[in-house]
Amino acid sequence: MSGAERPEAPAGGLRKRAVGERDPRDLERPGLPEPLPIAVYDNHTHLEIEDGIDTLDPLESLDLAERSGVRGVVQVGTDLATSRWSAQLAASDPRVLAAVALHPNEAPKLFAQGKLSAHLSEISRLAAEPRVRAVGETGLDFFRTGEDGRDAQIEAFETHIDIAKANGIALQIHDRDAHDEVVEILSRVGAPERTVFHCFSGDVRLARICNEHGWYMSFSGTSTFKNAVPLREALQIARPELVLVETDAPFLTPEPLRGRPNAPYIMPHTVRRMAATLEEPLDDVCRRLVANTERVYGSWADEAAPDTSNARASRDARDTHEGVTA
Ligand SMILES: [Zn+2]
Ligand SMILES: [Zn+2]
Repeated sequence: MSGAERPEAPAGGLRKRAVGERDPRDLERPGLPEPLPIAVYDNHTHLEIEDGIDTLDPLESLDLAERSGVRGVVQVGTDLATSRWSAQLAASDPRVLAAVALHPNEAPKLFAQGKLSAHLSEISRLAAEPRVRAVGETGLDFFRTGEDGRDAQIEAFETHIDIAKANGIALQIHDRDAHDEVVEILSRVGAPERTVFHCFSGDVRLARICNEHGWYMSFSGTSTFKNAVPLREALQIARPELVLVETDAPFLTPEPLRGRPNAPYIMPHTVRRMAATLEEPLDDVCRRLVANTERVYGSWADEAAPDTSNARASRDARDTHEGVTA
């Protein structure tokens, strides 16, 4: 679908990554890494956020990704504008599936403005679109949001879980400094069948809990950092069929490029490090990542998710009851 219409940038245009006034980072865009032998998917990226000098537009970024062995992405929304845009991009480009949600750091702001419930209803509507295959990123962030924002985060997280279940699609969790509370909520309200800890930041203990529940662990560039020994130990004990990989671009650039602008085409560095940590052939790791990713999100080639009929059935069931956010 190369002649596809280019979707408009989200309201306000492509966003620029917020940086300090004197950004000490090297903002030069890194070169193409050696391509992966078997093309994989980046299951969590933000193509609408630009970073550095010589920035890529979303379609250029996808073209470069293909050249480095990253054949598709899940484009993730963090608010209504970026969720809408993610769904549009997924509808127009076969390399893209979308995730839609209100980020846990957005939820308390929306709550304070009296808009949380209306925005969640719109997320629920977007989640029914055929190429929207996950609700995310949602979850809890106790690092950037203080005590006063917790109730709104929890309310939004629980509603997002309901939306994922009602649509029969995956859940992408943002968990920052909140492992125990995330696990508690998932256990209490019941996790969707396919639940992903995006940018997995736990250790062996959380990996064991994920193994037990069949929750997916998506490793990002942070797993290559020098001090990330606990993350690599978690990767080593994670059930292989639960391991995914992502960039969270433009953030979390892997070594040896840490600090530079990130993009899906840079992900081979993370995958290679993963194979080294697991002491497994790169081909085997790539093949398994592909299978795991397609199990979670369905096929990039399909217009609709594989379990659409089930999802429709549960949507219909839901619609006859009260609205998800009511
Ligand atoms: Zn996140
Ligand atoms: Zn993210």
